[in-house]
Amino acid sequence: MISLLGVPLDANSSHLRGPALGPAAIRAALHSGSGNHSSEASVEVVGELDDIGDIAVANEVGSYADADLITAAIREQLAAGRQTITLGGDHSVTFPILRAFRAFHDDLTVVHIDAHPDIYDDLDGNPLSHASPFARALEAGCMTKLVQLGIRTATPHQREQGERWDVTMLSARQLNDFDAAALSGPIYLSVDLDGLDPSVAPGVSHHEPGGLTVRELLDIIDALPGPLVGADVVELNPMRDLVDMTAMVGAKLVKEIAAAMLERG
Ligand code: MN
Ligand code: MN
Repeated sequence: MISLLGVPLDANSSHLRGPALGPAAIRAALHSGSGNHSSEASVEVVGELDDIGDIAVANEVGSYADADLITAAIREQLAAGRQTITLGGDHSVTFPILRAFRAFHDDLTVVHIDAHPDIYDDLDGNPLSHASPFARALEAGCMTKLVQLGIRTATPHQREQGERWDVTMLSARQLNDFDAAALSGPIYLSVDLDGLDPSVAPGVSHHEPGGLTVRELLDIIDALPGPLVGADVVELNPMRDLVDMTAMVGAKLVKEIAAAMLERG
C-alpha cells in the first residue's frame, strides 16, 4: 500500500507564495471526472493510494518544528511498511522527508527533477529555504547518491556545492547522458514541477524556459530500475496555473509514480 500525504507549506518559498494550495489542487485533479484511475500500463492505482491527508504544519518561515512534524509523519508511514508519495508544498519539504528515510535506508539514491539544484548553503538567511533542501539532506547523510536532472539555473556557488558532495548534475540539454540502468538499490524520486517546461507546467512560481516535456519525465520514471520507495511532487502554485493544467500534470505523475511503485516494489 502507498501512503499519500500533503504538506500545505510555502513559508520557505522565495519570490511567491501559493504552493501551500498545491496538495488540494493535485487531489482534485486526481479525482476529476475527466480521467480514470489507471496508469498508462493499465495498473489501477488510485484505489491503492491510502490518502493520509495533510500534515498539520504551522507554515512558518524556517520552522524546525514544521520540519520535525513532516519527518515524524513520514517515519510513521515507513514504519508501517508503506511507500510514500508526498504532495507539496514548496521544495523545503523534501529535506525533512529524506530525514525520515535515512532511518530505513542506508543506500538510498535520490533522483531529483528540477530547473534548480536547490543546494544553496542558505537563501536569504533561511537554511530551510526551498532553495536548500538538498544541501541539508546531503549534510545529514540522507542519501548515498544524488542525481539531478533538468537543471538550468546552476550558479557558480551551486556548482561548487555539487562538486563538494559529488552530485550528478545534468542540465536539460544533457538529459540523454542520464543512465537509469546504472542506478542500483532503493530510489527516492523528488519532482519539482518547474523542472518541466513552463509551456506544459505554467503553475509554478519560477518559470524557467527550456525544460522537460511531460513525456520525457514519464520516460525517466519508466526507466528507474527500482525499488521506488518514496516520491514527492512539489512546487505546484495553483495561483499561477492555467485551467488546472499543471495540477493535472501533478496528478498524472502521482498515478505513474504509484504504478512504478506497485510494479517494482
Ligand atoms: Mn526545487
Ligand atoms: Mn525549481
